Amino acid sequence: MLFIGNHTSSSGGYEAMGRQTIANGGNTFAFFTRNPRGGRAKEIKPADVEKLLKLAHENSFGKLVAHAPYTLNACAARENLREFAADIFSNDLKRMEYTPGNYYNFHPGSHVGQGSRIGIERIADLLNQVLTPDQSTTILLETMSGKGSEVGRCFEELREILDRVTLTEKMGVCLDTCHVWDGGYDIVHSLDNVLDEFDRVVGLSRLKAVHLNDSLNDLGSHKDRHARIGEGKIGAPALIRLVNHPALRSLPFILETPNDNEGWAREIAFFRNNYIE
Ligand code: FE
Ligand code: FE
Ligand code: ZN
Repeated sequence: MLFIGNHTSSSGGYEAMGRQTIANGGNTFAFFTRNPRGGRAKEIKPADVEKLLKLAHENSFGKLVAHAPYTLNACAARENLREFAADIFSNDLKRMEYTPGNYYNFHPGSHVGQGSRIGIERIADLLNQVLTPDQSTTILLETMSGKGSEVGRCFEELREILDRVTLTEKMGVCLDTCHVWDGGYDIVHSLDNVLDEFDRVVGLSRLKAVHLNDSLNDLGSHKDRHARIGEGKIGAPALIRLVNHPALRSLPFILETPNDNEGWAREIAFFRNNYIE
């Protein structure tokens, strides 16, 4: 069974996200837990969430992949910014319990000149501060392209964060195809080698979700500009192989391509037609 969907707008609430996902042919989706630029989160209406949970159950949805706001920087240089990040993070984890047992994906952070060593330590410190034993959500570190001072530009950096988190069973990784390609991992010509390397460094059991994007730029460009499927340098054939790969095929795949709903519906149908059951 292929679990695929797109990053959907959360402006209409939870039920609307479920209905739009079904309309697009999806059976999972991603959403921002609040405005992607941070700030206050909308109040959650339990009746609205109930309707989504019912839809998701009736339509056999896979795990949902929520996305933290971009402004959350767990390794900011200024202490007040790190406190802000921790506040948003723990508040989002409480909100996630309305939809229990799903994923909360975040960009590990940007070390802004402090160096990746300090960045990694600050990110792990924040996680150790906000994770709780009773949370049902699994936190996903997103693989990053390495633009600017991003932490998580290679599998080793993700491993170093994971090694420092006490509640390790609450942690996983989300692989973004555009980001790893831009980061220098050749998923077009040597997907098996890349996944072997991931397994060796991080462990494939940590891999919980995939962001399925083409890339406007070349291998190792460290740019992070997403392209529609088949309109970038990764290309559709490589992404079809990736979706069918034994190590990945049962994970939720989230499209973050520059599209409208019509475009996402087309991409979802494209992968469904090219998925070997
Ligand atoms: Fe992301
Ligand atoms: Fe992504
Ligand atoms: Zn990106």
